[in-house]
Amino acid sequence: MSAQKKDIRALTKDQLRDFFVSEGDKAFRGNQVYEWLWHKSAHTFDAMTSLSKETRRMLTDNFVINHIKVDVMQRSTDGTIKNAVKLHDGLTVESVLIPTASRTTACVSSQVGCSLDCKFCATSRLKRMRNLNPDEIYDQVVAIDNESRLYHNRPLSNIVFMGMGEPLMNYNNVLKAIDKITSNEGLGMSPKRIVVSTSGVPKMIRKMADDEVKFKLAVSLHSAIDEIRTSIMPFNATFPLKDLREALEYWYAKTKNRITYEYVVWEGINDTLKDVEALVAFCKFAPSKVNLIEYNPIDDGIFQQANAKAIDMYVSKLEANNITVTVRRSRGKDIDAACGQLANKA
Ligand code: SAH
Repeated sequence: MSAQKKDIRALTKDQLRDFFVSEGDKAFRGNQVYEWLWHKSAHTFDAMTSLSKETRRMLTDNFVINHIKVDVMQRSTDGTIKNAVKLHDGLTVESVLIPTASRTTACVSSQVGCSLDCKFCATSRLKRMRNLNPDEIYDQVVAIDNESRLYHNRPLSNIVFMGMGEPLMNYNNVLKAIDKITSNEGLGMSPKRIVVSTSGVPKMIRKMADDEVKFKLAVSLHSAIDEIRTSIMPFNATFPLKDLREALEYWYAKTKNRITYEYVVWEGINDTLKDVEALVAFCKFAPSKVNLIEYNPIDDGIFQQANAKAIDMYVSKLEANNITVTVRRSRGKDIDAACGQLANKA
């Protein structure tokens, strides 16, 4: 029986209104239910106390609410929290709460596993099982917002799509989730506080520009030299740097939004002057910011964080070329919650 019931959150507000009209009720009832489902994040129809018993029963007979369940919550000594989130079909993804002095950031997943094959990332070892639905992305954010209020006495302030998966390969659902997150009928967060991070899918970057999205874009670059980037991010053979750069030029021309590059410096891979110069040249076409991220080792030991001298060289060359650069420390390493460590191990 329940297999035939529809996931109610797959319906738009208009579809919900139409449903109530087809049941001989008022369209307005659809608005009420929509508010319960999104803004109030109701887990059951019984929780929708402004509806009559009959209406609640009728909804229970027709629909399910596929709410995520935080299965395991781990807390790091630095305040970072990692949630292992169980989906309605039994699959698991992870999301992370990252507190700093001034903000709480949610790092959310967009896919179960990942179809890309970045050699340095633990998630790439889980093959892609499926895309997350908009509600499954939304629910991760709500769960982290609740934890932020509970453990840090403040609401969530920022969201980064840097968990499992490649958001631009689940673009429509990511966009729908962000619409709900930013809408006053959902969480009412500003899109300026949301960053979508991509390995760089040129066609989708152009689409984002055409769609005039208001959130920010980060690109996981790691090398501005094709041979090197292809050796660590093999899909670069399909989407080489020239295509990526042209798509980013298009993005900048349309949105005038600065581009952030995520970049790890590894010993013996991208730690020479030639690598830095290629990065500087790559960043020239638009205002850019480079985040140098600390490498979080994943078991095989092939990759090693470059030494401080190499990082200093990057920082001074980038600064000399007026490119903003930050050196980011890892958070939550003790619970495998840092970038690239999400691998459903908990
Ligand atoms: N697929 C998207 C989002 C997920 S990865 C993307 O590639 O951007 C989130 C960030 O973590 C990316 O910048 C990625 O390059 C980085 N990352 C992956 N593995 C890492 C590791 N082991 N240590 C540090 N950063 C890593």
